[in-house]
Amino acid sequence: MAATILVVEDEPAIQDLISYSLRQARHNVFSARNAEEAMEIINDALPDLVLLDWMLPGMSGIEFARVLRRTARTKTIPIIMLTARAEEGDKVAGLEIGADDYITKPFSPREMLARIKAVLRRRSPEAADDMVEIGGLHLDSAAHRVTADGNEVVLGPTEFRLLHFLMTHAERVYSRSQLLDQVWGDHVFVEDRTVDVHIRRLRKALETVSKDGLVQTVRGSGYRLSAVLTASMG
Ligand code: CA
Repeated sequence: MAATILVVEDEPAIQDLISYSLRQARHNVFSARNAEEAMEIINDALPDLVLLDWMLPGMSGIEFARVLRRTARTKTIPIIMLTARAEEGDKVAGLEIGADDYITKPFSPREMLARIKAVLRRRSPEAADDMVEIGGLHLDSAAHRVTADGNEVVLGPTEFRLLHFLMTHAERVYSRSQLLDQVWGDHVFVEDRTVDVHIRRLRKALETVSKDGLVQTVRGSGYRLSAVLTASMG
């Protein structure tokens, strides 16, 4: 599963190693050296998960985690604390402020990736599904590929996210504003009709493999992805 991960770590060697491992695993990575930089990045766009070093210059990782948990917009971001401290008391303190997990340095990239996957799976099971198949359309979120009968569908990044959301929430109707929240994120100020534009592009791309009928308009309500082809589509 590809996720957007913010790494807050002041030691360049460790920051590089972590970022490299995450990119190898196809995650999108943002790097910050301290809480202030991390906050600027978060203000731009919410990451799917924060890897947060305990010992940071300025505001400590644990204080920063508290700030994130206190703020409405950031209180549900999954946080994994990184620390050189192995004391049980620190681990308890980390989990008490609401960190989802805790990794003690030194750790292997493999262990880190496994823990990230476990936290993401726990927090949003639909995001952890690497492969989805509906009505003959296959979406591989790790490889960022959509295919039907072995033919690849070429999609822009927004259409890919839109399709991924609809496929992992199939058979349910979503209004334009719900799709904006879910697909575009909480921090964009775009008009509802932007959704229509991207739905149109998505259908056009799916037309190349004759799967455009999966994306259905529900009059007066919004859109739905369904393997059941209805005659009354708008
Ligand atoms: Ca540090």
